[in-house]
Amino acid sequence: MKPKSLPKIYRKTLLYKSGVEYADYCINHVEGCSHGCRYPCYAMIMKKRCGVIKDYNDWIKPKIVANALKLLNKEIPKYKHKIKFVHLCFSTDPFMYQQPEVRDLTLKIIARLSQDNIRCTVLTKGLYPKALINKEKYGVNNEYGITFVSLDKNFLSKFEPFSPSPLKRIEKLRMLHKAGLKTWISMEPYPTPNLAQQKLLDLLHSISFTDKIIFGKFNYNADSYQFKENKEFYDECAEIVSKFCQERKINYHIKFGTRTKKRYLEKRTKTEKIFQKPRLNIYA
Ligand code: SF4
Repeated sequence: MKPKSLPKIYRKTLLYKSGVEYADYCINHVEGCSHGCRYPCYAMIMKKRCGVIKDYNDWIKPKIVANALKLLNKEIPKYKHKIKFVHLCFSTDPFMYQQPEVRDLTLKIIARLSQDNIRCTVLTKGLYPKALINKEKYGVNNEYGITFVSLDKNFLSKFEPFSPSPLKRIEKLRMLHKAGLKTWISMEPYPTPNLAQQKLLDLLHSISFTDKIIFGKFNYNADSYQFKENKEFYDECAEIVSKFCQERKINYHIKFGTRTKKRYLEKRTKTEKIFQKPRLNIYA
């Protein structure tokens, strides 16, 4: 049976300059996200606060921005000289699991940006499609990331109830890596031991092929803050990530506020600087 098509919304603008630590320009071409993470999801909190959605049930029923490509065609000539890169997405997931309409629209957006040599950084808890290997169509300079914070089944069923297994996410990311594309991992929000029993090093070993790791603590969650040695725990995790990445020459970034040791406090790096300068546009 053909899946029911998603509800449509129309927006006045699409590309926007973000003030968030992570990005330069952003696109959110879907409202809501069927992954329904329960960390909780910051995007959902904000949308609720602004009255855009009513509640969690509303949030997990995504709506497509039907005029996204039309807006993009209008906005690219206006902004293209200012854009360093475009992040997909902050307040939704561009490769939402089992949402072919979202996937197809995201692919069209990446292809459209690529036509003007605009590179993207992409982040998903879904699965990357093989189509992205077509570098001529989707570009060679994009950076494809997944969120990966745990393999603990209890944690995943509680906090990431509708996302595919992290092992499947890694498999698809590895496929892009093998095709010569840049990949990265967002290890955020990394859970405290009262939320997930795991060894950080084991997780790191499973993603050692990646080009970059961004590590950040668990936010907005009372249970995590209640973990007594919270500060020491994240200081130690940050050391593990730094050492692991330095030994393997993997780029890494510890998100602001994760480490509490004094010597790190003033080192607020703009995450914008973390994403690489474009390579020459050679279709390897
Ligand atoms: S995948 Fe991202 S946008 Fe979607 S619910 Fe989870 S945290 Fe929110």
